[in-house]
Amino acid sequence: MKRTQALIDMIVFPGGYTKAFTMSYDDGTVHDRRFVELLNRYRIKGTFNLNSGIFGLQRKGVGPNTDLDISVIQEEEVRTLYEGHEIAGHGSVHASPTDVGTPAFMFETIEDKEKLEEVTGKMVRGYAYPFGAFNEDVKKILKLAGYHYARVVDTTGKFDIPQDFLEWRGTAHHNDPKLMELAEEFCRNDFFGFRKKLFYVWGHSYEFEGDGTWDKIEAFLKFMDEHREGIWFASNIEIVDYVNAYRSLEYSADGNMIYNPTAIPVTFARYRKNYTVQPGETLYL
Ligand SMILES: [Zn+2]
Repeated sequence: MKRTQALIDMIVFPGGYTKAFTMSYDDGTVHDRRFVELLNRYRIKGTFNLNSGIFGLQRKGVGPNTDLDISVIQEEEVRTLYEGHEIAGHGSVHASPTDVGTPAFMFETIEDKEKLEEVTGKMVRGYAYPFGAFNEDVKKILKLAGYHYARVVDTTGKFDIPQDFLEWRGTAHHNDPKLMELAEEFCRNDFFGFRKKLFYVWGHSYEFEGDGTWDKIEAFLKFMDEHREGIWFASNIEIVDYVNAYRSLEYSADGNMIYNPTAIPVTFARYRKNYTVQPGETLYL
């Protein structure tokens, strides 16, 4: 078939949503209790990156704030506290992936995965790099261990879906002075290009306590809730699984036969019309 305009298919998220929002919080400290309560109040999904080797550890201080309680939550509360959110790996005892040697890192990783799966009763397939430290070997080990994504520390200030989920840069840390500006830009109903799709915020809940910013984060979550129309609120792994399924679609040379080899129904938009390809089926346009 002779084509007269550029063929550009755009990912459409489950439920027909054109954008996705997700949050990622590290270290599983006691302040997650208050933070999860806020997420639940404003119907927002998060991913929590836990260190399963130090559940229950009592400790204080981070940076100049030596009085701040950064104790780790108890193992017994993990299942109920994080219900409805994703649990992901963050290393058994938060060792730096690039600074402990490969065997120790492999052990840190797989021991953490096994423990988190035992505690949650669910597969753990996501990860955040402790200290944001990674290299090619580290990425390879995570992939072999069954992790499908890993979040880094630096951010993009953009709404791109990453090409490589094992180097997942979020949009912003919650302390980014532009956070509300980004939220407003993301929630505006302007036309969103095919790459401007994903708003990703990360941090540590103890920062709200240490910096006195609980009000600020609550205002942000409330804003996102009030502008939820058209946005898929998802955990990190839900986004990864869906994007990977979208990327697995197989196309005929003319682009009009589309095969979905995955187990997930996948929706895309072509010339502003939505199409869904069912698992194992071929769509003929
Ligand atoms: Zn951490």
